Amino acid sequence: MQRDVLIVGFGLAGWALTEVLKEQGISFVVIDAQKNSSSRVATGIYNPVVLKRFRAVWYANALMEHSISFYTQPKYKAAFHPMPIHRILASVSEQNDWTVASDKVDLSNYLHPKILYNTNPNVFAPYGLGLVHRTGWIDTNTLLTQSQKELEQQHCFVGEGFDYDALDVSANVLRYKDWKVNQVVFAEGVGVLKNPWFSNLSIIPNKGEWLIVLCKGLGLHTILKSGVFVVPLGDDKYRIGATYAREFENSLPTEDGKTWLLAQFEKLTALPFEVLEHSAGFRPTVPDRRPIIGLHSEHKNIWCVNGLGSRGVLWAPYLATMLVGALKGSQTVMPELSLTRFW
Ligand SMILES: Cc1cc2nc3c(=O)[nH]c(=O)nc-3n(C[C@H](O)[C@H](O)[C@H](O)COP(=O)(O)OP(=O)(O)OC[C@H]3O[C@@H](n4cnc5c(N)ncnc54)[C@H](O)[C@@H]3O)c2cc1C
Repeated sequence: MQRDVLIVGFGLAGWALTEVLKEQGISFVVIDAQKNSSSRVATGIYNPVVLKRFRAVWYANALMEHSISFYTQPKYKAAFHPMPIHRILASVSEQNDWTVASDKVDLSNYLHPKILYNTNPNVFAPYGLGLVHRTGWIDTNTLLTQSQKELEQQHCFVGEGFDYDALDVSANVLRYKDWKVNQVVFAEGVGVLKNPWFSNLSIIPNKGEWLIVLCKGLGLHTILKSGVFVVPLGDDKYRIGATYAREFENSLPTEDGKTWLLAQFEKLTALPFEVLEHSAGFRPTVPDRRPIIGLHSEHKNIWCVNGLGSRGVLWAPYLATMLVGALKGSQTVMPELSLTRFW
């Protein structure tokens, strides 16, 4: 069995890569362990603004332009939910900060200059709301589930853990079990920490927990942000997230996480609610907050893409396009994203 590319990992990074490879007629097979996927539990918000400090994320305009036009393709319609974010302003000082920020060149595309009066009687927002436009959320689980089904039908998806010992890297054409491939790309999220070729990358797992609640009468139609994001899922179900923890005992959701999330939600509304779901996952983060793409220093056909951090939705299509260009030899990896920064 022969393919151009073998991809290990089918989170957002691996998924976007399969989409770009398909577009360019390059053959591939994906191997995915189907566990510990950050992408399957992501809230999926795309938002180019750091709403704690009112500043643009690094490379915001390029990411928005590339990635949002990617998701607006009709084939992703079921998973694409464009909607504005309302940032609850906590004080007069934050109102001033918002007005100043909305006038900045890099933010004026996204932040509405006028502070909005809160018209929802069930939401506490005495200092009003800042409106962020061109934002929304992607139902990443639906996206991945649909794509995986198609790949399985085309015999391009193998649901198992990758056996590193079974990869023979000694020849130009790589061999893995019954497969012969020209290139291997590891898109393993935090799983990369066990990878013998790339375990030295500075990937730091950051645990995130979230809840889904039913809160009848809350009536939100936009994403609300204060201490947490509250994403309307329909029928007054809301996803509340997320926590950030660099220290943790295991991958399970915790009582502490739940208590913190509920406390944030209770600051927003006095309505009663019921918790329907509580879950957790690990973001693959990097100390300089930039993803990592690159080629192994010794083996010139083994690549990795990782470090999507808390902005995997925005980064995945952009990185996939750059990586496919690099695999073909027609594009170089931006130095700011290259794994050579860790050598
Ligand atoms: C609670 C939470 C909320 C989040 N919310 C958002 C958000 O709102 N917006 C946003 O943009 N981002 C968000 N993120 C971040 C986002 O989820 C990540 O940036 C992104 O999913 C990382 O994608 P990835 O493909 O690199 O890794 P993953 O999604 O973790 O995928 C890696 C895949 O590789 C597989 N794998 C690993 N090792 C092996 C192996 N040896 N063999 C076979 N398979 C292997 C795993 O099973 C997994 O399926 C959130 C994350 C969390 C945890």
